[in-house]
Amino acid sequence: MGLLTKGSPLSWEETKKYADHVRKHGILQFLNIYHKVKERQKDVLKWGDEVEYMLLSFDHINQKVRVVLKGEEILDVLQHKGEKTNPNHPTLWRPEYGSYMIEGTPGQPYGGTMSEFNTVQDNMRKRRQEASSALQQNEAICTVTSFPRLGCAGFTLPECLPTPVERGASKSLFFPDEAINGHPRFSTLTRNIRHRRGEKVAINAPIFKDVNTPSPFIEKFPSSNGDGGKAAKPDHIYMDAMGFGMGNCCLQVTFQACSISEARYLYDQLATICPIAMALSAASPFYRGYVSDIDCRWGVISDSVDDRTQEERGLKPLKNNKYRISKSRYDSIDSYLSKCGEKYNDLDLIVDKEIYKQLTKEGIDHLLAQHVAHLFIRDPLTLFEEKIHLDDDNESDHFENIQSTNWQTMRFKPPPPNSEIGWRVEFRPMEVQLTDFENSAYVVFVVLLTRVILSYKLDFLIPLSKVDENMKVAQKRDAVRQGMFYFRKDISKAGNAVVEECDAAQNGTETCAENYTLMSIDTIINGKEGIFPGLIPILNSYLESMEVDVDTRCTILKYLKLIKKRASGELMTIARWMREFIANHPDYQKDSVITDKINYDLLMKCNNIANELTECPELFGPGCDKIKLSGNKMASLNDTL
Ligand code: ADP
Ligand code: MG
Ligand code: MG
Repeated sequence: MGLLTKGSPLSWEETKKYADHVRKHGILQFLNIYHKVKERQKDVLKWGDEVEYMLLSFDHINQKVRVVLKGEEILDVLQHKGEKTNPNHPTLWRPEYGSYMIEGTPGQPYGGTMSEFNTVQDNMRKRRQEASSALQQNEAICTVTSFPRLGCAGFTLPECLPTPVERGASKSLFFPDEAINGHPRFSTLTRNIRHRRGEKVAINAPIFKDVNTPSPFIEKFPSSNGDGGKAAKPDHIYMDAMGFGMGNCCLQVTFQACSISEARYLYDQLATICPIAMALSAASPFYRGYVSDIDCRWGVISDSVDDRTQEERGLKPLKNNKYRISKSRYDSIDSYLSKCGEKYNDLDLIVDKEIYKQLTKEGIDHLLAQHVAHLFIRDPLTLFEEKIHLDDDNESDHFENIQSTNWQTMRFKPPPPNSEIGWRVEFRPMEVQLTDFENSAYVVFVVLLTRVILSYKLDFLIPLSKVDENMKVAQKRDAVRQGMFYFRKDISKAGNAVVEECDAAQNGTETCAENYTLMSIDTIINGKEGIFPGLIPILNSYLESMEVDVDTRCTILKYLKLIKKRASGELMTIARWMREFIANHPDYQKDSVITDKINYDLLMKCNNIANELTECPELFGPGCDKIKLSGNKMASLNDTL
């Protein structure tokens, strides 16, 4: 989850006093980095994935599954066996928000060669095995995006009661503070978001109305100990803690570009892909023991860390705050960064005017200056006493403080001070999949997409307001089969030879309205005669032009086949498969309720699938496709897409 500092965290009241200090020095730190490395060219293409995991404990006697609060303990074991013993260890482990979570990445980023695509799944498998070996019997490490009964009575092991009291971190009716990672950064973030906002966070996910679901669906919450759930909306699943969002698992990919301008170009192009990839990866239909009407976690996390005050949300006239802010800190990007994106920047962008002026005075162009000045409208959420006064030439903690708590679909990452690392962008919208095979497939798909974007100079840009509309559609139930998404029709930009010059190529007669149209995910991914060529066919022709060894080629083909079939609806998304599993469960009463027993059976099945103990043709295809899970390269070169 980004920056992690040990020490003594300040309360919100104290942190607030330093907000301008953090912003001022954060900007100086950014400027120092920028001036040192803005001209840096020829960094090589590197990339790496991040997979988040949940630790579960299966109680086979009572047929119950719970999250186990031992993430820190497992992390310690894994780091000692791994990076602390051997700097070249093939995996890296990091803490995550939930005390039942950990995050794993490859030990080193991958490089630019095609054959590295063939090692991704093995590395993920290694991570799963390493983590599993640190667990006890009946425990499992699972890549499920949201734990279906998160926040239900007794969902943790050891069992902890929520403590809806002011001095607690979440003050939640459902989510105990013990389920938050014990590092002070996480509980402080939680408490300070609540204090800054002036009230608890409020998340209302629409309930899926099944035939026996009460209508209206209204829950009663305890008011003797807590606030009675006053922010709960009818016909919604109410949640009231950061953990309901940040306690979910996701799949991210970071890319290093060869220069700052290439990074800016990739940031923009990939931003348009975010809603599409999110819908394809949909894996989180259940919240707090109920079936919801959404398939993706995005809106839930967004609300779970929304630190805006009532004034900032437009509920009260501005008095103590400076701005009306239209989005949570966790949301889609608000402005394109490359020259070709400029004319599609149609969202109302709030910037810190002083910071914008300072950045432009220092020679930073309008687009980058407004991006940073927009991130910096936010306050720092945590500050450690030991980390207030920093060396702005050689440290970047204040910059990272604001940057890493702007959790957007894409993140533009400047190099850390004094490092060999180049300009990077992070692709953040995807939900984590059950198996290493799927996670590798989604990651490789996105990485390959960056290659064709750069090689063919593709242009996916549409007005950013349309990307935002796509984000909303993408989260809906069954968006892959039913959603329509704005997508650019002509993505090849003839004459657009140089990335930096694409604005020149685009100036002229073309109007935005003609550039894009509504398409299904199937059309976007697989193409449709006369409408759109399709991303997979483009990747295919790219692959044909590349020298790729047979083995790697087969692996890539299997990955693309999965994406292709998920996009067409021939194979199910995890979300759809989970919904069908519940609907067909003998205990399910068609009332949108996920009981302990149903949850147990579902997660047992998920765990068995992830460990290749059972087949699941609905997710991966029938029969021989199973061998593709185990990295057995049986697909022939004629196995066309
Ligand atoms: P975060 O900002 O999310 O904490 P990290 O910086 O820890 O992310 O790294 C996320 C991913 O970036 C990892 O998969 C890692 O392998 C990869 N990575 C590390 N260095 C580079 C690099 N120079 N270029 C591209 N990816 C990198
Ligand atoms: Mg993470
Ligand atoms: Mg990340």
